[in-house]
Amino acid sequence: MIIKPCEIPIKARLLEALLCRLPVAHPKRPVLESELGKCMAGYRGEQSIDSVLAVLPEKEYLLFHDLRIPSTPYPFQLDILILSSSFFLILEVKNIAGEIYFDDDFHQLIQTKHDQAQAYDDPILQVNRQRTQLLQWLTPKRAPTIPVETLVVSANSLTIVRAKNKEVTEKVVRRNSLALKINSLAKKHQEDILSKKELKRLTNLLLKAHTPYIPKLLTTYKISATELLTGVQCPNCRALPMKRKWGKWHCQSCSYCSSDAHLAAIRDYALLIKPTVTNRELRDFLRLDSASVAAKWLHSMNLPYTGSTRDRVYHLNWHDFAADWHDYS
Ligand SMILES: [Zn+2]
Repeated sequence: MIIKPCEIPIKARLLEALLCRLPVAHPKRPVLESELGKCMAGYRGEQSIDSVLAVLPEKEYLLFHDLRIPSTPYPFQLDILILSSSFFLILEVKNIAGEIYFDDDFHQLIQTKHDQAQAYDDPILQVNRQRTQLLQWLTPKRAPTIPVETLVVSANSLTIVRAKNKEVTEKVVRRNSLALKINSLAKKHQEDILSKKELKRLTNLLLKAHTPYIPKLLTTYKISATELLTGVQCPNCRALPMKRKWGKWHCQSCSYCSSDAHLAAIRDYALLIKPTVTNRELRDFLRLDSASVAAKWLHSMNLPYTGSTRDRVYHLNWHDFAADWHDYS
């Protein structure tokens, strides 16, 4: 049963939003586009695993995609976590094309494609570290001790996987043989350790602890907020800016008309620029003339605020905006 589905990563959504608001000739576009490509390849890789996992008995396995759990000294992120009553399984999904070689001498993954080699961090080390952190996180939760298995999955069925060491070959699985591998793990761990009630409790604890990572793209890529194109974006053709006429937003490129397209722009502001906004800043960003219309929207969003009426600062909650992504686009 899928408890937490595979969704387009927030980082990809933000990269897309940023690219839409950068001028066509902006020098940072190529690096942002390449980062977006990598991010979406990772997402498609994870998505492709769902069809393989669909053959598993639905009632026996609980599936979580992209959990990010705060922990000291740093949070841990699991591509896929599978819970069952007899064992847990962490999957680290790699969607890398060409040929990949697991080099356990130097703990690196080497990709060779079109005669070019590129090194990545060792995903086996990565997933083992995640296992340690998950076990540490579970300890104070007072759950019965349960085996936690780990696997690295190569999601691209055309990728050639190589390794010289048997330990490595047992930890790495190609997508098409993942279900078989899970069945053999189920044979290895037959004893029921967790009750349905206990699994439900851990499910709720994991979902509650999950904290998505919201990258600060402008800081990372050294882009100033003043370089961004302002205005409300057309939800139909993505053109900027829409014009406000008769209480609605009108697209000057495709004539589409919307009454709430400003909500996506406010989300862009909150997630790309900063999590606070004044009436003036909002009007500048939306290219809106009316202070009373901006005040009405800010009021209707029930945002916490500080300051008196004139210089009131509204607090836009990043995580609420990130969680509501689908509602606005
Ligand atoms: Zn349009």
